[in-house]
Amino acid sequence: MRIVMIGSGYVGLVSGACLADFGHEVICVDKSTEKVEALERGEVPIFEPGLEAIIAHNRASGRLSFSLDLAGPVANADVVFIAVGTPSRRGDGHADLTYVYAAAREIAAAVTGFTVVVTKSTVPVGTGDEIERIFREEFPEKDIAVVSNPEFLREGAAISDFKRPDRIVIGTGDERATELMREVYRPLYLNEAPLYFCERRTSELIKYAANAFLAMKITFINEIADLCEHIGADVQKVAKGIGMDKRIGDKFLHAGPGYGGSCFPKDTLALVKTAQDFGSPMRLIETTVAINDNRKRAMGRKVIAACDGNVRGKKIAVLGLTFKPNTDDMRDAPAITIIQALLDGGADVHVFDPEGMEAAKAVLGPVTYGKNPYEIATGAEAIVVVTEWDEFRALDFRRLKQEMKAPVIVDLRNIYKPEEMEKYGFAHFPIGKRKAK
Ligand code: NAD
Repeated sequence: MRIVMIGSGYVGLVSGACLADFGHEVICVDKSTEKVEALERGEVPIFEPGLEAIIAHNRASGRLSFSLDLAGPVANADVVFIAVGTPSRRGDGHADLTYVYAAAREIAAAVTGFTVVVTKSTVPVGTGDEIERIFREEFPEKDIAVVSNPEFLREGAAISDFKRPDRIVIGTGDERATELMREVYRPLYLNEAPLYFCERRTSELIKYAANAFLAMKITFINEIADLCEHIGADVQKVAKGIGMDKRIGDKFLHAGPGYGGSCFPKDTLALVKTAQDFGSPMRLIETTVAINDNRKRAMGRKVIAACDGNVRGKKIAVLGLTFKPNTDDMRDAPAITIIQALLDGGADVHVFDPEGMEAAKAVLGPVTYGKNPYEIATGAEAIVVVTEWDEFRALDFRRLKQEMKAPVIVDLRNIYKPEEMEKYGFAHFPIGKRKAK
């Protein structure tokens, strides 16, 4: 099959590389000259474990290539995926569909024979209908079917998520498109990944409902964590205790500094806006969004409280910046808000992240970037763990205690055991547990 992926970011590049790995002929298109040139030099512009090897292998086999030009590849394609960004629109929080519609018009202009155009980007309910209207009115001579096929991969585990998904949701009522989409995913189907066909609007909503549910689950355990701190319970044990119930499940029950990243914040907000527009407000998700927004700043206050209520002039070491480990993505990372609160309090903030520092430079205020945890901890009056990278799990606490000015650890991911921290002589401030004295 000849597949074209429009947009070669976290989703487009992973999806394109994996589809090539299944044996399809894939061309990944992007508007960014910098990105395409880097890819053609064999460099991968994002950090995603395992991606570089898959790209190299499939380029060498001739199944995967990159292009700045959209028209040429699209003219010969069977299926064209739209995987461009759908960020929050400035001002009102709706999904900004400018890139999607621009790509759709360019695709329609280039299409020759029957072609399936698939929205892999996360798009609000009705976007497929609008694309279809554009095609019908502006390109009436073209034979195109519009399909929704939302992506559920997680950054940091994107390759295995794409290759071993829990389900593949495909929204279409068109028989020819159904056959072609079956063909695209046949290799996965053979692996018994369930293909779930439904109407296009239902498919569009499934993506938002899934993300909103997960964001709500995280927010739920975060509020339980706050309660635990007041009543002297342990949120990790509560999470385990409820997670053993199969109706609840043990995933997404890790209390922390609030959800962030390129999807949950914008998708929850977009769902809230869609629901309001249709006169069917989703109060649960409105509240989830509000709680999560407040929580990030509150985590800054938690750090200040751990420093006896004052961080002015104090060196604070922040470990981890990205919204989760194993990615370099800084979009809507809680670290941004937490660090801003510390800067507002007058702290001298030093930071370290294994992969995210380049991206962080574009979004953080005046902080100092260090080379490793020990460098930034030297002379610090608190360490704040914001992202649970594996390399932070086994630090040399004896050395840290010697090099810090005050032995304080604010552990926003609960990666250290309170008893151990106490043994090393640290004042340890976890999430959702009574603090060790
Ligand atoms: P991204 O910003 O990393 O990539 C988007 C790419 O599209 C950019 O490289 C941009 O240059 C390119 N682009 C924009 N307009 C273009 C055009 N007209 N022609 C060619 N290229 C164009 O975004 P992403 O994180 O990959 O997300 C893409 C979509 O997938 C979003 O809707 C997002 O919500 C959804 N999604 C993301 C994730 C994730 O974990 N990142 C997971 C599931 C779904």
